[in-house]
Amino acid sequence: MRFKGKTALVTGGSRGIGAATARRLASEGAQVWVGYRERADKAAEVVASIEEEGGVAHSVAIDVTSSVSVQSAVDTVLATSDRIDVLVNSAGITRDGLLLAMDEDQWSEVLDTNAGGSYRVVKVVARTMLRQRSGSIVLLSSVAGQKAGRGHANYAASKGAVEAMTRALANELARKKIRVNAVAPGVILTDMSARVREAAADVIKGEILQKRFGEPEEVAAAIAFLASDDASYVTGQVLSVDGGFKM
Ligand code: NAD
Repeated sequence: MRFKGKTALVTGGSRGIGAATARRLASEGAQVWVGYRERADKAAEVVASIEEEGGVAHSVAIDVTSSVSVQSAVDTVLATSDRIDVLVNSAGITRDGLLLAMDEDQWSEVLDTNAGGSYRVVKVVARTMLRQRSGSIVLLSSVAGQKAGRGHANYAASKGAVEAMTRALANELARKKIRVNAVAPGVILTDMSARVREAAADVIKGEILQKRFGEPEEVAAAIAFLASDDASYVTGQVLSVDGGFKM
């Protein structure tokens, strides 16, 4: 029960890694806010599954490309919970394309969601954590931030930015007792990676030391570690959870 008495906000929490993280944090005692962009029904399913296991959860609409939406979501959380101890920004998108076919929208939408979204959410939540003089933030990078495949220039750039931001914000916020870390998943069994897995499963598995794709729960376990007091002396780090893919 590492998160007993703590409140956590998970963006992109209605599916994939975000949903697994919401469940994991709740199973360890956190009151969890499951952030969703559009699919209120999916977020409600995650909340219901947490409640069935005896946990406490709520859902909240949050679009990380909009400062207004982020502020409104955080206001909603604070109206009920009064604090935010853990922030996990799992919201993210891909819009793959080879360079010459990649238009400006494809570039800017991915940068604005993955890197810009991290900036917007951290900025608003950090205000609360600064007041509390405590908090732990976990951002989502990707193996692509350091080892990208073809067609990933926009996504790789966005995740490289997340990693650089993790170090910069860890530096800025450490003196206020706020830790900032990131996880860099490899190929995880979620909707996001479906197309890549269908196109080249055997080739990719061949490059992964553990010869298999990861489960969202395996990423959630690493996120929970970084978010928890078990990582009380860890900040500014990017933890690879990729079965050895980057190597
Ligand atoms: P997913 O597509 O299953 O889930 C992503 C979630 O983000 C969805 O719920 C979606 O609605 C939400 N989202 C997208 N745009 C949003 C916005 N503007 N505002 C709020 N929410 C938004 O993907 P996933 O695999 O769970 O990915 C979670 C994170 O992990 C992402 O940041 C992704 O880049 C990263 N990641 C995933 C993999 C993988 O293989 N699945 C690998 C490396 C990194």
